[in-house]
This record gives sequence, structure tokens and C-alpha cells, in this order.
Amino acid sequence: MVIAVLGSINMDFVCEVPRFPQHGETLRGLSFARYPGGKGANQAVAAARLGAQVFFYGKVGDDFFGRELLQSLTENGVSVETVEREGNTSSGIALIWVAENGKNAIVYVPGANALVNTAYIDRMLSRLVAAKVLLLQLEIPLETIAYVLRYLPTKNPFVILDPAPAQDISSLSLERVDIITPNRGELTALTGEEDVKKAGRRLLDLGVGLVICKAGAEGAYLITRESFRHFPAFPVNPVDTTAAGDAFNGALAVALAEGRSLEEAIIWANAAGALATTRKGAQPSLPYRKELEAFLKQHVPKIKDSRS
Ligand code: ADP
Repeated sequence: MVIAVLGSINMDFVCEVPRFPQHGETLRGLSFARYPGGKGANQAVAAARLGAQVFFYGKVGDDFFGRELLQSLTENGVSVETVEREGNTSSGIALIWVAENGKNAIVYVPGANALVNTAYIDRMLSRLVAAKVLLLQLEIPLETIAYVLRYLPTKNPFVILDPAPAQDISSLSLERVDIITPNRGELTALTGEEDVKKAGRRLLDLGVGLVICKAGAEGAYLITRESFRHFPAFPVNPVDTTAAGDAFNGALAVALAEGRSLEEAIIWANAAGALATTRKGAQPSLPYRKELEAFLKQHVPKIKDSRS
């Protein structure tokens, strides 16, 4: 039961600052730390911690941070033999300033992520096709996602697309997307529609198989042609919602790859997302299988159904 994740990987450099610096100013920062990130890498770690065999597809630079990023994936049980190192560029990085008033400012350099191109897909396609579930996001070039969707066989693998960051996806072969998982903001950005049900139906009209809208503290909504179902969030005390969406997608993929029903998979995803909000950071907050199973034993999920 192999899960393939094709996407971004980068190192986040986080400086806490009293305020943002002015032009030409050297400002004394309060703290510094670096964390592995990128939606692709986060979702790969999420799925691996939940017990799946995971292969990551993407690129890093041939630099110190690239080596560290790959080591971190390996330590989390993700196979990285399919990752390529690019000699002429840096690994993807994000420079993040977090000010005392809670505001942040970010410079993102995609580096090697921008070189995940169609030639790379040609080299990897036979392996991608052998996976049970393929997880995609939009932090690598859109042409590459378009190319993958065009050249995958009609059935395998099962494709889950996280349309983040939101952008125009009309060039994609959306009929090859089995599930699309926007959050509320992305759903509106993609469709121009505020109403979840109407927006979801618009995505269905574009050809996607199913829409699952991640809705933060509301949980998730499943929108199909026949039904609209609300899966309420599990009650937790959130401290940091970073990577909750990545935990959600990783868990959804693992549950479906294991042959669980769609309903059970969404419950797993809601539980993984909820657990991720109870801890700080991106990858450190992603739950392990034992934690998820213990959490699900303690909490009985509710589903609200409406046919239309
Ligand atoms: P993203 O991180 O992509 O913006 P969301 O904020 O919707 O996505 O969070 C993803 C999932 O995490 C939600 O669908 C839900 O299952 C869970 N989640 C997020 N916030 C909370 C919360 N406050 N309480 C419980 N679960 C939450």
C-alpha cells in the first residue's frame, strides 16, 4: 500500500523580531530556529507517521539544507530515493519574520521546487503509476501538475489534489482528480462562490470526482452530486493550526489506501487535523498512528447528512 507525494519541500527560517526592520537598518532579533516544511513534505510525513509506506517525489538543491531536508524525511520513515538534487540552484527556503504583535512577513524562494518539471515526471511516471494513492498540491509548477494529470492512466493511482496555494486550475485535467480538498478560503478563491455547497458543485462541474472542503473549527464538508454532508470537527483546544490541513490530507490518503470507506477516511482526516492543532509547529505537530487510534477511541464522531 504505497502512497506517493509529489510536491514541495523547503526549509523555513524563522526569526522572532520586536518589529520589522526599516530600509538600511540592522535590527537585533529575539530568536532564530529552522524547520523542515513545504506542503508536499508535510503531507508525506503526515502519511508516514500514520503507518503508510510513503515515497516523496520532488527536488532539493545540492546544498547543506537539501541534505538536511532529506535526512529529516528519512527519519520520519519517508523514502527519498525518488528525490533529485539540482546542482545549480538552492533548496527551497522561506525566510519568516514573526513580530511581537503576531504579524509575519515571509520571503519564499522556491529554488529546486521550481525545477520539478515535466522531464522529471517522465523519469518518474512508471513509479508514480504504481502507487495506490497520489497526493498533489500546488507548490510546484502548475504545468507539471497538468502534465501528471494528463499522462496518468485513467484509474490508478487514486489522486487527491490539495489546491493550495489557490490559483487558476482550469488548465488541469480535473476529471483525473478523484478528490479535491480546498480549505474554505481556497474553495471561494477557486470558484468565486462563498456558499460551500454551491462552490463545491462548481468544482464538480469542472470534472473532479468529489469535493472535501476543510473548514477549520467546523470540520469538513463532503460535496458530491447527490449529497452534501457535514463532518463536524472534533472538540480540541487548538494552540496552532499550522499544518492541520496537511495532517488532514495525509490521513485521508492513508485511510483510503487501507481500503476504509470515504466516511471513515474523512473522520480520520478530521481527527488528524484536530490533533495537529493541539501542538505547535508544522511537522512536529503531525500525529502518529497510535495517537490517532487512541484519539478516535475516545471521541465518537457525528455526521450530518443532507440529500440534494
Ligand atoms: P488548512 O490548514 O488547509 O487551512 P483548515 O484550517 O480547514 O485547513 O484545517 C484542516 C482540518 O483540521 C479541518 O478540516 C479540521 O478537520 C481540523 N481543524 C482545524 N482547525 C480545527 C479546530 N479549531 N478544531 C478542531 N479541528 C480543527
